[in-house]
Amino acid sequence: MKLTAYGKTDVGLMRSNNEDRFFSDEQLGLFIIADGMGGHAAGEIASSMAVEIICKKLKKHLAEETSITDLQQSLAAAVMHANQAISQAAAENPAMSGMGTTLTVLLFHVQQALLAHVGDSRLYRWCDKKLVQLSHDHTLVADQLRRGIISHKEANKSNLRNILLQAIGVTEKLEICQKLLSARRGDCFLLCSDGLTDMLTDEKINEILTHNTRPEQAGSELIAQALAAGGKDNVTVLLVSVDA
Ligand code: CA
Repeated sequence: MKLTAYGKTDVGLMRSNNEDRFFSDEQLGLFIIADGMGGHAAGEIASSMAVEIICKKLKKHLAEETSITDLQQSLAAAVMHANQAISQAAAENPAMSGMGTTLTVLLFHVQQALLAHVGDSRLYRWCDKKLVQLSHDHTLVADQLRRGIISHKEANKSNLRNILLQAIGVTEKLEICQKLLSARRGDCFLLCSDGLTDMLTDEKINEILTHNTRPEQAGSELIAQALAAGGKDNVTVLLVSVDA
């Protein structure tokens, strides 16, 4: 499989530090995004730790000939390990108390891709001018919407939108959203932090991807539009195009 990726992060217009982290390796087929939270520098520590741990744990397995089932297990184990390591670091250091991070990992293998996801960063697939969200938001509002307690309109207006039900480092019993996805030529995958999706609607993101088909153009335009819409949070995008 030939992949072309482009990642970019921006601190935004309202914050002084960037707690988002991403990792992109076309050769390994490994793409990660993490959006940290916690006072002082703790959010940055949590997101950096999550990315480093996942890379370190997975690189060992990616060097070996392995099946998709084995990879799926290794991926889940790596996410669990990150959860435990961050929670332990927070317990041992009062300055890091309560730190956590979202985590979205996309790992390609032959003509498939594995998703492991916790939190409210997102994975989308864009194909044939259509944008589909593949990850599931672990937020209170998304949960209420799914259960029919609130409408789409209420969900979009809710000031509880950023309340997470799960995050790496703070949730004891993690329920990782795991999926096995097909990956075909012409697909473009977008991983992003909520700094993008709080600023731009899915319709707007689709429009930008439809008018900018190369990852680099599309990524730069997504960031520029999120800033133009207010740039209230750190904003990170990682685009992976399946070229062959
Ligand atoms: Ca954020």
